[in-house]
Amino acid sequence: MSMLVLGIDTTCDDTSAAVVRSGQTILSNVIASQYAAHEAFGGVVPMIAAREHARQISFVIQAALDKAEVRFSDLDAVAVSCDQGLLLALVVGVSAAKSVALACNIPLIGIHHLEGHICSVLMGEGPGPAFPFLCLTVAGGHTLLVRVEDHGQYEVVGSTRDDAAGEALDKIARRLGLGYPGGAAIERVAANGDATAFALPRPMIRQKTLDFSFSGLKTAVVRVMDEHPDLCVADLCASFQQAVVDTLVIKTMRAARQTSLTRIALAGGVALNSLLRKTFKKAADRAGLQAFLAPRALCADNGAMVAGAGYFLYRERGADPLTIETRANAPLGRLSV
Ligand code: ZN
Repeated sequence: MSMLVLGIDTTCDDTSAAVVRSGQTILSNVIASQYAAHEAFGGVVPMIAAREHARQISFVIQAALDKAEVRFSDLDAVAVSCDQGLLLALVVGVSAAKSVALACNIPLIGIHHLEGHICSVLMGEGPGPAFPFLCLTVAGGHTLLVRVEDHGQYEVVGSTRDDAAGEALDKIARRLGLGYPGGAAIERVAANGDATAFALPRPMIRQKTLDFSFSGLKTAVVRVMDEHPDLCVADLCASFQQAVVDTLVIKTMRAARQTSLTRIALAGGVALNSLLRKTFKKAADRAGLQAFLAPRALCADNGAMVAGAGYFLYRERGADPLTIETRANAPLGRLSV
């Protein structure tokens, strides 16, 4: 069944819309970033995010249609992230999607934002992982290890107990005055540093749990900064980045062993980090597992992954009513350990 799906994402600080054919062929993927609006605050301000989404959303949708060379009347469905994110930000995207569904008389599909990230690993050039697979999805708002049974069927096997990995990177970058977004800034500065310069903890790696905790690592970095006022920032960034990456990879490999899954995937905004991509792949190779990395263009929040996930969910369970709501915190999947 060939289907042209418009995907909309306004979860955090990116206004995005995309047109994707049958969950695979990306005809357009337009992202309007709000970095400039939040930069002065060193992080995302929810009210400003919502206002910026409202300002941008119609232009972004039109740009996605134009770039894909399609009209509203060509669309077969509209998918939108309605779960997981900043509530007021989500409301803008969901309202826009409902309007499109109503005006075009096409099905509306609401997805959990993380379903989009997970789906991104299936949308690369080559073949994606066959089900079931393990997916590490890691970003500013979440750090999650998920057993993906099928489209729409997930079991969360590990998650963060405090800060998300991306959040820890952002906070330390802010503390070091490196600007926002922090992950990219840390990676840039770390390129000239020595990752062995500072001995930082790899939190909770000795415990059997598959959960993460990054707040202790963040505190350890702050302590180093206080103790060494003249430290080499590049060395600290490199050491910190290495500690975050090691922790993520060690836990993923443990989860693969515990769940007996042989295919592991990496998605989310922090999956843009080159050291994480390289280390993830290397560890998988060493353990005889297959690694699948989300394409770089689909790592940050984007509408294409939403259109992709929406297409597959629509095939599984059909359309959602126009009354769907938004939830800032929503569980992913029906199974939970
Ligand atoms: Zn996200």
